[in-house]
Amino acid sequence: MIFGAHESVAGGLHRAIALAGEDRCEAMQIFTKVSGQWREPALGAEQIAAFRAARAGWAGAGRTLSHASYLINLCADDAAILERSREALFQELARCDALGIDFVVFHPGAHVGLGEEAGLDRIGESLAIVLSRGKGLRAQLCIENMAGQGSTLGDRLDQIAAMIDRAGPEGARLGVCIDTQHAFAAGHDLRSEAGYERFWGDFGRLLGMDRLRCMHVNDSKAALGQRLDRHARIGDGEMGLAPFWRLVNDARLARVPAVIELPPLSKERRGYAEELARLRGLSGAAEPPAPPPQPAPEAPRAPRRRSRA
Ligand SMILES: [Zn+2]
Ligand SMILES: [Zn+2]
Repeated sequence: MIFGAHESVAGGLHRAIALAGEDRCEAMQIFTKVSGQWREPALGAEQIAAFRAARAGWAGAGRTLSHASYLINLCADDAAILERSREALFQELARCDALGIDFVVFHPGAHVGLGEEAGLDRIGESLAIVLSRGKGLRAQLCIENMAGQGSTLGDRLDQIAAMIDRAGPEGARLGVCIDTQHAFAAGHDLRSEAGYERFWGDFGRLLGMDRLRCMHVNDSKAALGQRLDRHARIGDGEMGLAPFWRLVNDARLARVPAVIELPPLSKERRGYAEELARLRGLSGAAEPPAPPPQPAPEAPRAPRRRSRA
């Protein structure tokens, strides 16, 4: 895997690239706007030039990702929110294309009362609209797998396959981003060899490995199958190091950009560099000891909360 982190854009989008360089990232994710607001910033030519120049000067430069707004719900029942969501995803795609960002990662949506099938239909329809508007743009849309909190869709790989299928011919351009925390919380046990191989076997069968454009590497505060979107720092959560050891040593994923999303603890900003060194150190290392067995997860009856990443 090619490792990096979600970097802050405080002080300008181009600042994130300087931070990525300091943290020894070889991939990077940013927000191109305030992620919890609908307002769409118009990028000026100067901002675009500054970002592209910084990227050209980034030692070890690799793939760049943006994470779309958390407000987007491509299967919203409310017509106004649905329209805003489609517009916001298109605007994100257009901004990223202007900046030269490779991948736009987004959460597909929550069907609320609509039901799974109708929700998947609507997500497919939304994606077809955004993709046909974005014809010719090089930035690629990537559906992120979800933890399955509330009525969120995309915790199962077959649901992601259905979204792509229902986007019609334009769906060929869609990619997928796998978040390890979301996968674990959704019940995919990446700790054991059997669980890990089952997950990627299903991925290959349902989606095809070439759909995997990027990953989010996060540990989990939530237990296996608890369906909660709660990230932890690598090695500090319920997943232990085994899943990350498997990922780092998986030849199928050697070229996949993978970013840590949780900001580092230390204010001196050495946190990411340390976490990345820890991940890279798993390459070729002996298998880490398995974590103690967990009690069976409780039924997923957590309070509804907007998914954060
Ligand atoms: Zn994520
Ligand atoms: Zn996310």
